[in-house]
Amino acid sequence: MRIEILTLFPGLFDGFLKDALIKRALQRGLLELKIYNLRSWARSKHQAVDDNPFGGGPGMVLKPEPIFQAFDDLLQDRQPKPHVISFSPSGDLLTQERVADLGQQAQMIFLCGRYKGIDQRALDGYVDRQISIGDYVLSGGELPAMVVIEALVRLIPGAIHDIESARSDSFQASLLEGPLYTRPEEYRGRRVPEVLLAGDHQKIADWRADKAMETTRKRRPDLWQRYLKDKSKTSSV
Ligand code: SAH
Repeated sequence: MRIEILTLFPGLFDGFLKDALIKRALQRGLLELKIYNLRSWARSKHQAVDDNPFGGGPGMVLKPEPIFQAFDDLLQDRQPKPHVISFSPSGDLLTQERVADLGQQAQMIFLCGRYKGIDQRALDGYVDRQISIGDYVLSGGELPAMVVIEALVRLIPGAIHDIESARSDSFQASLLEGPLYTRPEEYRGRRVPEVLLAGDHQKIADWRADKAMETTRKRRPDLWQRYLKDKSKTSSV
């Protein structure tokens, strides 16, 4: 998987690239990451990348020219064309399903917004899909880009130590994960549930499934309803 990132703040990715999971994926050649400073495509005297919005109002807007020029360079003679993603609170809400869907793409370019956002013509010209990581406003698309990359890398076989562990995480079967326990068996008067200590694997699996359902029902009624609907669909075929 190859991901190229266009950003005004490449330094924000420094620590992220040192993270064990990402570093291992890069070292094993499972992931190729290129980070470009969008400013290097700014041609104007002061290398301006943003300007006031037409129609007035507060905030600055990322100018179209540097973005068009960056894509002219990055997409030159590229076949097949990489999938281009930008980040915005008005994008498609990121879910595990959408992460898995993006995981099918071998090549992607992430365009990180800043300030008020990006000139619509640049979005219309190059962006295939906008993604939101939640109903709140951040200052830039860099954290969303890292969120998407981390979620993607967990799904690449060989990137994560224990792929079974990733498969049992929340959302993989439309359910959230239930509670987890490790040693000691008792701590400050709180005991680990007996079933986890008795070693009956079937009972443990049943307990975990029950807890996953209970957690989903209590914490996320919306997911629970979807789970019930999906289940009734699969059991009726
Ligand atoms: N004016 C915009 C917010 C701009 S925030 C609006 O009202 O919708 C600046 C940049 O941060 C955006 O261009 C986007 O790239 C990024 N961003 C902020 N919040 C985000 C979110 N929830 N999901 C994805 N990207 C986000």
